[in-house]
Amino acid sequence: MTDDFFADFGETLHQAAKEFTAKTDTFFESQKMRNKISGEQRKIDTFLKDIGNIVYQRFVDGEPQHEDIAVLCEKITEHKVAIAKMRESMAKKKGEKICAACGASMPKEAKFCMKCGEECKEEPEEEVVEDPKPASEEPETEETPADVEEKTSESVE
Ligand SMILES: [Zn+2]
Repeated sequence: MTDDFFADFGETLHQAAKEFTAKTDTFFESQKMRNKISGEQRKIDTFLKDIGNIVYQRFVDGEPQHEDIAVLCEKITEHKVAIAKMRESMAKKKGEKICAACGASMPKEAKFCMKCGEECKEEPEEEVVEDPKPASEEPETEETPADVEEKTSESVE
């Protein structure tokens, strides 16, 4: 009986081990499959992205697009503008400016982009409104109100 028992027990163990191996094999097999599937999916995503870039470029070039595609392209442009604005304000804080052609940042005084060679036209800053008074008269008129204020505050006390 004991012999039978151990024989059975041994057989059971052997069977369990076999099943375990089979299970791990299928586990690794399906893991491999999952990796292959996600690899294929990544390729699809890359191609879809390429299609998107091609279609968007056509939209930018003025080629008429289907309405739903045009709406999505406009959204992309909006986000691109938002990025450009943020980069520009970041560059300004560092005393730099952004190349209009390639988006590279460079020193404010640069005449040409160091990355793409594009000529950087001087951006008209907030000084566009011309001062009606000649610049030479400025210092005198600036000093006078301060002097008057000082005198009046002294006389009040
Ligand atoms: Zn550039």
